[in-house]
Amino acid sequence: MSFIENLKNFLAPPVKSGSGNFITLNIMCNRCKENIKVNLRRTSDISRVYGGHDSPSGASFFVRKEILGNKCNNLIYFKGYFDENLNLISSDITGGKIVD
Ligand SMILES: [Zn+2]
Repeated sequence: MSFIENLKNFLAPPVKSGSGNFITLNIMCNRCKENIKVNLRRTSDISRVYGGHDSPSGASFFVRKEILGNKCNNLIYFKGYFDENLNLISSDITGGKIVD
């Protein structure tokens, strides 16, 4: 875990699972195959979509996130749209892939 991530975790309040305030993504790094768990916080990482632009239909939230694992320096770029229930409806990822 990077220093910045440690700092963010230290500053952020504890996350209660099932609170509906964050999304967990499991991402695999394309370079070293590391499995990286990413928590997207509703308050900081997730933006509301107000229609228009080029968002897909049904999209309520948008996330853009740069993800760095611990095992290599491959930076993964994630962009995704989520519906009102925070289900992923469309995503674009570079440098890695989403795994279940
Ligand atoms: Zn990696």
